[in-house]
Amino acid sequence: MSKSNATVLSKANQDDQKTACITLDLESDWFVDQPGHSYRSVEYLQSYIEMIRQVDVPVTVFVSGRLLEDRPEAVERLRRELDTEFHLHSYAHDPEMKQGFRTDLKQGIDAYEAFFGSRPRAYRAPLGKLTPSQLTILDDAGFDIDSSVFPSVRPGTYNNLGAPIEPYQPPETSDLVEFPIGVIPRLRIPAAQSYLKLGGWPYLRLLSMVDLPDPLVFVSHLHDFFDSGVNEYRSQPMKAIQERNLDASTTLFAELISCLDRQGYRFATIADVYDDHINGGLL
Ligand SMILES: [Zn+2]
Repeated sequence: MSKSNATVLSKANQDDQKTACITLDLESDWFVDQPGHSYRSVEYLQSYIEMIRQVDVPVTVFVSGRLLEDRPEAVERLRRELDTEFHLHSYAHDPEMKQGFRTDLKQGIDAYEAFFGSRPRAYRAPLGKLTPSQLTILDDAGFDIDSSVFPSVRPGTYNNLGAPIEPYQPPETSDLVEFPIGVIPRLRIPAAQSYLKLGGWPYLRLLSMVDLPDPLVFVSHLHDFFDSGVNEYRSQPMKAIQERNLDASTTLFAELISCLDRQGYRFATIADVYDDHINGGLL
């Protein structure tokens, strides 16, 4: 993906306030070095709800189809207690898509429809791994939004350094709009809770000093905030990375929200931003 063949979209009114979308990927525990899956992180849902209530922002939740089937009460609780919007985060949360992308997507859509009674409007791929042909499949399936692309580099997983850092129309789609994950311009370091936790207070200071994208799509997981014990099953260096600053993670997040607030950001869900700025006649 390069800048030359992706159409970067602009806002209807450039004077509008900047927007931040706080997103949560809700899935079974992963990188667990044993077969099967678990939901230990989901046991921290009440702490998550309390943390979000403190900062009072809407949350865009990307939920896996399998979690919808296995832990429907958790999703229901989030829906009841917070200002949320739900989208699809694959069915099995398998970055390798061993059962095939189309099969996984169909299962995911079916699980979503069974729970919510409507089709999902947005998609996020496990680990942000999505090929151009999979984007076309999402477009054909009627998705308005994909929010999978890290316009950054992760060796062995993706290299999207040429991708735009604000919403764009990928050349492979006719309708679907990509909302890339927020990154620090030029440095291309993701504005995600995992990186905030890893970089700690110096990274927060950096985020407060730079001109971040608009909209800013901020990624987080329950395991980025709470120690569910899953890290015991991870191998190094992932174990050390995941455990770093874990005690300070919720404080860092609250400070980040204050920092974005001071920078003039308002907080909205991804579909609200799409409806305000993209669907308003810009395409
Ligand atoms: Zn995920």
